[in-house]
Amino acid sequence: MIDVTAPRPQQVLKSVYGYDTFRPSQEDVVLRVLDGRHCLVLMPTGGGKSLCYQLPALLRDGTGIVVSPLISLMQDQVDALKQLGVRAEFLNSSLRRPEQRRVEQALCAGRLDLLYVAPERLLTDSFLSLLDEARIALFAIDEAHCISQWGHDFRPEYLQLAEVRGRWPEVPCIAATATADEPTRREILKRLRIPADGLFVTGFDRPNIRYSVVLKNNPKKQLLQFIREQHLGDAGIVYCMSRRKVEETAAFLTDEGFDAVPYHAGLSSHDRQANQDRFLLEEGVIVVATVAFGMGIDKPNVRFVAHLDVPKNLEAYYQETGRAGRDGLEADAWMTYSMADVVMMRKIIESAGAGEQHLWAQQHKLNAMFGYCETATCRRQVLLTYFGEDHAGGCGNCDNCLRPVETWDGTVAAQKVMSCIYRTGQRFGAAHLVDVLLGNETDKIQRFRHDRLPTFGVGAELDKREWRSVIRQLVAANLLRVDVTGYGALRLTNACKPVLKGEREVFFRKDPTPVKKKRKRAVDAAHPETPADKVLFEALRLLRLDLAHAQGVPPYVVFNDNTLLAMVQHRPQSLQEFSRLSGVGEVKLERYGAAFLEVILEHS
Ligand code: ADP
Ligand code: ZN
Repeated sequence: MIDVTAPRPQQVLKSVYGYDTFRPSQEDVVLRVLDGRHCLVLMPTGGGKSLCYQLPALLRDGTGIVVSPLISLMQDQVDALKQLGVRAEFLNSSLRRPEQRRVEQALCAGRLDLLYVAPERLLTDSFLSLLDEARIALFAIDEAHCISQWGHDFRPEYLQLAEVRGRWPEVPCIAATATADEPTRREILKRLRIPADGLFVTGFDRPNIRYSVVLKNNPKKQLLQFIREQHLGDAGIVYCMSRRKVEETAAFLTDEGFDAVPYHAGLSSHDRQANQDRFLLEEGVIVVATVAFGMGIDKPNVRFVAHLDVPKNLEAYYQETGRAGRDGLEADAWMTYSMADVVMMRKIIESAGAGEQHLWAQQHKLNAMFGYCETATCRRQVLLTYFGEDHAGGCGNCDNCLRPVETWDGTVAAQKVMSCIYRTGQRFGAAHLVDVLLGNETDKIQRFRHDRLPTFGVGAELDKREWRSVIRQLVAANLLRVDVTGYGALRLTNACKPVLKGEREVFFRKDPTPVKKKRKRAVDAAHPETPADKVLFEALRLLRLDLAHAQGVPPYVVFNDNTLLAMVQHRPQSLQEFSRLSGVGEVKLERYGAAFLEVILEHS
C-alpha cells in the first residue's frame, strides 16, 4: 500500500538539499532503491552520485550504510550532511573508543540516517553482529570499481563485500563509481549480484571543464601567466612529476605572491595534512603536488588543474583534471608538454621492469596520451572517444575548438624526415636530424659524413622549430618511435610505409601562437561580472569563511559557490525569497539565512 502522507523524493530534495530538480538518472535510481531493488550508478565526478543513496536512506526506515575507502572523504561527507540537518556519522580508525561507542549506540537505537564505514570495519564480526541489531535501510558501495580486478584500483577487502550482500539479500544495494569500463562494470554487477537492468550510466563528459594544452617553453612563466590572466585568487592544483619540481614550483609561486603550498610523499605526514587542510579550509590556496595528492579531495570549487608534466596515461589525466569544477561552474584543465616529457615517461615505463603484456599496454596508453597533446581536433572528442563514448566534436570549450588549429599537408615533409632517419641508420635524435635536413655543417655532420647524404639540406622550406614540430607530430601519430635505450634515437615504424610510398597523406598542425581567447558562455561563470556583484560576492565569501571557521568545517559545506552566485544574481530581499535559492534547504535557511540576508541587504 502506498502511504500518501509519506514525503516524496522531490519534496525531500527541496526541503533537505534545497534543490528543485533531479539531475539525469538521479530520480530513476532513487525510485528504484525505494522500491527495494539494487543498482549500479556510473556518473562522472561531480555528477551527483551521493544523492542517489543519501536520499533513499532518508526516506526508508533504518540507517543507510555507506562503504567508502577514503577516510578523509567520510569526514567531509558527514560534515556536509550535518549541515543539512541529516543524522550522519562515520566509523573508521580515526575515531577514539568513546566516540565509536556513541556512534554504535546511535546506530542500534535507530538514531542515524546514514553511517559511513571503511570496508575493513564493515567486515569485522563485531560490526556485522551490530548490524544484526540495527535496521538497515540500504547498502551503498562508493568507489565500487575497487571490487574489480579489472579496474585500476582493486582492493581485496572489497571482494568480501559480496558476502555482506549475501547476508542481507533483501536490503537494496547501490554501487557507485566514476570510473568503470565495460569489463569492470560487468564484474561489479556480477559480484554484487545487481541485475543488468539496474545499471545507470550517465555520460562522462565534464562540459564545464575547458581543456587546453600548450607547448612547453619556460613552463613556470607560462603557468604564472595562465594563473594571472585567468585564475587570480582561485583555488587550484598544479601537478608536477617530481618532488623537487613540486618544491621549486611552490616556492616560485609563493615568491610571486600566491598562496601556494607543496604536497608530496616526501613531506612528513603532519606537513602534508596541514597543507591539505589549508587547501580545504581556506579560499584561494594553490596546491603544487605530485600524483600523491587528490584521492579523496572533494572540494567543489577547485577552479583549475594545471599539469606541468604529462601524466602517464589518459586515465590518470582525466582523473586528475576531473578534480576541477565539481560544482559545475567553469573551470580549466591546462597542461604544458614537450617531446622530452614523453621520452622521459617512456623511460620510466620501460625501466619499471614490468611483464611484456603490461609494458605493451603502458606504452599504448602513453601513445594515446601523446596523441591527445598533439591533436588538432576537439580535445573533448579525443578524450571521450578514448573512454568509449561518442562525441561529435566541436565542443566549443577546448583550446582547439575556441581557436581552430591550422593544418597543412606535410606529406612531403614527413617523407623527408623518414628518409633522413633511414639513411642515417635510425641512430640519431631529433636535433641531429634537423641539422641534416637544414644542411647545417656541424662537427657531428662532418664526423659521420652526413653532408654527403641526398637528404642533406633538403629541408630549407621549414625552420628548426617547424621541423621539430613535424617530428613531434610524427611520433604522436605513431609513425616514428623514440628509442629510449639509446639517446632518444628516432626509428621508423611499420606505419611509415604507406607514407613513403605516397599512399597516405599526412597533415600537421601549425604550432599556435598563444592568444587570449574568450570562453563561449555555455558554461556557468564561476565569478560575477560587474564590480558591484564582485564586491557582494567577496562579502558573502568572507561571511561563509567565518561561519565555517567557527565550526571547523570547509567553507563549501556552509554553502557552495553556486548558491553564493545565486544570492548575488537574485539578491533576495526576504527570507522567503532566500529560501527559493538552489542549495538552500530548511536547516540551512534557519541556520544561515538571516546572516547572509543581512549582508545582501547591506549591499542593495
Ligand atoms: P559525485 O559524488 O558524483 O562526485 P556529488 O554527489 O558530490 O558528486 O555532487 C556534486 C555536487 O552536485 C554537490 O555539490 C551536490 O550537492 C550537487 N548536486 C547533486 N545533485 C544535485 C541536484 N539535483 N541539483 C543541484 N545540485 C546537485
Ligand atoms: Zn572541443
